[in-house]
Amino acid sequence: MTYDLSNIIENKESLLEKFIDTYTACINDTEDEKVITVIEYYKEIFDLFTRESELEEILLVFENLAAYKLELEIPYIIISNEIYGLENVLIMHMPKDIDNQQLLSLIKLFKAINNRVAHKYLLKYVEKLISQNNIRQSSLSELVEKNLIVHYESHLIWLTDLAQHIKNNQRTAFPELDEKKCTFGKWLHSDAKTMIQNNSKLHEINTIHKNLHIFAKKIYNTLGMGEYHVLVSYLEKCEMISLSIGTELALLDHILINKQISKDTLTGALNRNALHTLFENEYELALATDTSFVLAICDLDHFKKVNDTYGHVAGDHVLKHFVDIVKENLRASDVIIRYGGEEFVIMLPAVNKKNGYHVFEKIRKNFADTPLHFNDYTIRTTVSIGMIEIHPVHMYKKHFVDEYIMMADQNLYIAKENGRNRIEYC
Ligand code: GH3
Ligand code: MG
Ligand code: MG
Repeated sequence: MTYDLSNIIENKESLLEKFIDTYTACINDTEDEKVITVIEYYKEIFDLFTRESELEEILLVFENLAAYKLELEIPYIIISNEIYGLENVLIMHMPKDIDNQQLLSLIKLFKAINNRVAHKYLLKYVEKLISQNNIRQSSLSELVEKNLIVHYESHLIWLTDLAQHIKNNQRTAFPELDEKKCTFGKWLHSDAKTMIQNNSKLHEINTIHKNLHIFAKKIYNTLGMGEYHVLVSYLEKCEMISLSIGTELALLDHILINKQISKDTLTGALNRNALHTLFENEYELALATDTSFVLAICDLDHFKKVNDTYGHVAGDHVLKHFVDIVKENLRASDVIIRYGGEEFVIMLPAVNKKNGYHVFEKIRKNFADTPLHFNDYTIRTTVSIGMIEIHPVHMYKKHFVDEYIMMADQNLYIAKENGRNRIEYC
């Protein structure tokens, strides 16, 4: 089977440009190496379109493009919309005298492309999901502190089983579809009720878990019908929902862990000796739930001067005052550790640097705007903060909390250099 669209694509260069314009319109940095690689794929596609090419030849380029997108962790919907956009551009700019037969052949070609891309994407995606789930499971087994999160494991096993069934196109011995009967569902409807005291959280987890089973049922009904685009979209949904269940459980686990760890008597922050365990736990949880987290070091500004001016006891009260303000701005699952004299480490699970920055900016501002009234003094103090975002990679540096602290410390140093009472991050 051969195709030649040269009479449909009248002006190859200008059409390619139009398509690239719409493609890059929603991308910030068009010079990005990855964007350039994708554009190279589309140049090749336009070349094939405008000469006599074998169908297989065309499909192969799209297959490679799909594999590349998946490598970049780009969801299926993006590539599928892109191909739809390409088809649209071609149809919109067709010469007027194109006959129905030619139009039909173009539509048929795109149907074949969509189908092949979806199939390729699905197979690769399933493989990736299975291997990532294995990593997530091994992360869970490495956790030092675990309470609720262990139940997430049964969920990962269920999801891997679902992916296996899609891979084998098999409906027999399908993973449990009833949301009350899967291992996780059984726990959620029994022991979880006493373990998760927070009713609204329990309700939230219940709702997302129900949704997950709705998508699994849709997968079951679609399997074997060759509707790869539907399968890949639903499986992506299932993975996303599973990860969010893991994140919710991890956050609840943090609350329990925080309660168990001993506190610094002066400030009420956690003791420094918990830092290693808490960090490793956080790292594994982030890996298991595919989230990033934020770590920051806070150092009070000119604190020696506070002690010198108002005395050590007043200084002690300022430290407590700072921790109180921090706690007002943290979630129960966040962590504040007294790292040294007037230095604190804060970790925010399941947060990226943009949101982390907002949290720290609120803390910085609240602290600067809220002086401490102690005896007859009004003591104004500020804080400088060095922050980093950590997105764990399997087995990479997980035991080197000190290295991450050093990175945050470098940002803290920059914050001090740049005038204090500010946040620096990378
Ligand atoms: P900078 O803005 O550069 O951080 O200036 P700084 O004065 O805060 O400098 P530095 O961080 O070196 O000083 C920390 C001071 O904090 C020194 C020490 O006297 C004081 N400090 C440490 N622990 C405590 C404590 O538990 N209570 C009190 N009151 N002061 C403490
Ligand atoms: Mg200091
Ligand atoms: Mg200081």
